Amino acid sequence: MKISFHKVELKKRFPLAISRGVRYNSENIFVRYEKDDLVGWGEAAPGNTEGASTPEAVIKSLKYFIESGIEKESIQGLYDRAQEMEIPPCAYVGFDTALWDWTAKKAGLPLYQMLGFPKAHTPTSVTIGINPPEVVKDRIPLILEGTSVKSLKIKLGSPKGIDSDKEMFQQVIESTKKYNVKIRVDANGGWDVPQAKQMMQWLADHKVDYIEQPLKEGEEERLKELYKNRPLPIYVDESCRFSNSIPSFAKYVDGVNMKLMKCGGITEAIRIIATARAHGLKTMIGCMSESSIAIAAAAALTGGIDHIDLDSHYNLAPDPAIGAPMVEGVTMPIEKPGHGAELKSEFYA
Ligand SMILES: [Mg+2]
Repeated sequence: MKISFHKVELKKRFPLAISRGVRYNSENIFVRYEKDDLVGWGEAAPGNTEGASTPEAVIKSLKYFIESGIEKESIQGLYDRAQEMEIPPCAYVGFDTALWDWTAKKAGLPLYQMLGFPKAHTPTSVTIGINPPEVVKDRIPLILEGTSVKSLKIKLGSPKGIDSDKEMFQQVIESTKKYNVKIRVDANGGWDVPQAKQMMQWLADHKVDYIEQPLKEGEEERLKELYKNRPLPIYVDESCRFSNSIPSFAKYVDGVNMKLMKCGGITEAIRIIATARAHGLKTMIGCMSESSIAIAAAAALTGGIDHIDLDSHYNLAPDPAIGAPMVEGVTMPIEKPGHGAELKSEFYA
């Protein structure tokens, strides 16, 4: 068995602004797990809010975990031990996804098939960050013209307030008129309760599909004030990291948005899907700043998920990995054993 870590800078075509700040380029860690002449690939995106803010912190945590012994343990057993050892999820995900990729290759099956999910079929949203209307006006044709993109996720919750949100959103409506696209909104916790009530009604009047994370993480109790008589379905993202948090807010939301970087990988994402379904909730899967490897691992689950937001790799120039192309608006796993993605050799040779 051989495990190696490869640090690669991900360069964005467009910086992404959300309610809490702007993301420019990032450095991710790629995990290469080789055993029995098969290679599994995983990816970890360091994150301030996810417990390992630098590539070095990711590698340090993973080395510490691997030194604790990883032979003769199931993928689930290893995940549970990583939680006990408090390995940051945004680091552990690199190892977890590499193990699942390798295991599916060993079984000779595409990962989605090994997990028992149908093949991906729901189109992904493509995200537009918080921007002045003139930038939105330029950006929307770049994303929609001549592509198969079928849905946009608009980031609102601007620090400048809801008038600024409305101004940006009016431009979205104007610029998408000639395209047939669905529109969803993510406030990333940028509103208080009165603002959220007002904006949800306003967005419902503008035919938005759903609202994501209207209130800050930690304010889950107040979701009940929005849930009653809600004009739009409510999804939580920042408020839902692991499956065990779902029962506490399940009565006040319509669905949860999972991310591999938040929950630590495929192992916990499967538990989130099962827990959400058991509570009658819909599911969504999103991403951080990720290349095709983490996206392909997530795409192995999407046949069993209601809303898909796997688009960060389309905003890279270049994407250092291959394996999660857009096919008719769907972020599609490649039909071969494993999750189907790998790091291009020039990025680790
Ligand atoms: Mg979100």
